[in-house]
Parts: sequence; C-alpha cells; structure tokens
Amino acid sequence: MKIGFISDIHSNWEALDIAIKKLEKEVDEIYCCGDIIGYGPDPNECVNYVRKLKISVLGNHDAACVGRLNYDNFNPLAQYAIDWTKENLSRENFEFIYKLPLKINFEDIGIVHGSYRNPLEEYLLTYNSVFSNFQLIDKSIYFFGHTHIAGVFIYSPENNREIKYLSLVKGGEIELKSNYKYLINPGSVGQPRDGNWKTSFGVFDTNKNIFKVYRMDYLVEITQKKMQILGLPRPLWERLSFGR
Ligand code: ZN
Repeated sequence: MKIGFISDIHSNWEALDIAIKKLEKEVDEIYCCGDIIGYGPDPNECVNYVRKLKISVLGNHDAACVGRLNYDNFNPLAQYAIDWTKENLSRENFEFIYKLPLKINFEDIGIVHGSYRNPLEEYLLTYNSVFSNFQLIDKSIYFFGHTHIAGVFIYSPENNREIKYLSLVKGGEIELKSNYKYLINPGSVGQPRDGNWKTSFGVFDTNKNIFKVYRMDYLVEITQKKMQILGLPRPLWERLSFGR
C-alpha cells in the first residue's frame, strides 16, 4: 500500500491543491498530521478536503481555533490569524476539528502532530526532545509535523544514544530498515519553514518500506494576494515566498 502524508496545511488551498493532485494519482490513502487551519486564507476549503480523508490528528492551531488549547502564549501574528479563522470557520468544520484525536495508532505506525509525549506542543527539534521520544514510542515509525521542516530522525536501539538525521528539504527518499526507529516529518504543505518555499508532502510505500518527500511549486502569489485582501498580517504572507 502507498500512503500519502500531508501536514501543516494552515489554510493554504493553492498549496494543498497541488499536493493532493499529485498524491491522488499515486497513493491509496492520505493521512494528515494536523494543523489544517491557522495562518492562511482558506480554512473551510482545506477542512472540507481533510474531512474526506479518514485520518487526521489535531494540531495546536486547530486546537486553538476550536477552544481546545489556550493560545495566549502564541506569537501575536499567530493569535491574530487564529481569531480571524475562528470567525470564518463554518459550523460543520468547527465540529469536525473539535472531534479530531491527538494520536492515531495503527499496528505498525503512529501519527501525532508535535510529539508522542506532548502531541500539541512539543517541537521535535533538539537532541533531548528527539531522544526522549524515541525512548517512549511503542512503534518503530511515527509520523509527525509541527516544525514545518521535512526530514527523518533515525535511531538504532543497539547503537546506544546515537541519532542520525536525514534532511528532506529538497525532497528525496529513505529506505526504512526493520531494526531501527524513525520519526518522520513530511514537511509543511502550506507554510514550509525549512528554507524552501515549495509545498512539501510525503509518500510511504509500505511494501518497499520507502518514504519519499516531494517538493512542488504552487501558485504562492495567489495565496499571498488573498491574504492581503483579507487583511491578514503582512509578515504571514511575505514569509511564504521564502519558506520561513
Ligand atoms: Zn503548524
């Protein structure tokens, strides 16, 4: 089976549209690692699509928009975008987000937004956070999002405390081996922060045990224009050009 992975869409329909057109031709199912909304101009279009997928977890911005997470400590621009999204989200989409789970577990893989031990708030960026989560996870492969950085952390329980990292900022693939553990981030569909502005998403081929990241151009100027017209803060649309 081939599974598409999307994460951190953040209400960017133009980016999501490119990602799903590519994925729908190639995969059997698509799973979402959370943060469907927040920041961008098209929350309802993006949630309408994710509602058709059977699998999505809750992200911190999703949670903030439906009152499941206090967002007083978010930066002011993110807070502004959450307030705007709350006002513009349809009733049905609010209810869908409200019911999303924090974790999804299959027999051999798991899905979270931030991390296994703190699905809504922990960023897997430092050695300590990554190492601690490798000790806790009950499966060899977890997919996550939240950092908006495409890449894979690789851990061999036999190799003591060593963690390797494979950056997928420019796309690329990795073969997953059975005696290792993996924390895999497909990158952000709608607001990449790894220095590459192109939309990021992944495909996991469960037969070949290969995970692959695609980076594709999308009509970023259209997303930016929409945000400008809607009065969303300038730094939020400017950053899309740079992948920051
Ligand atoms: Zn996010």
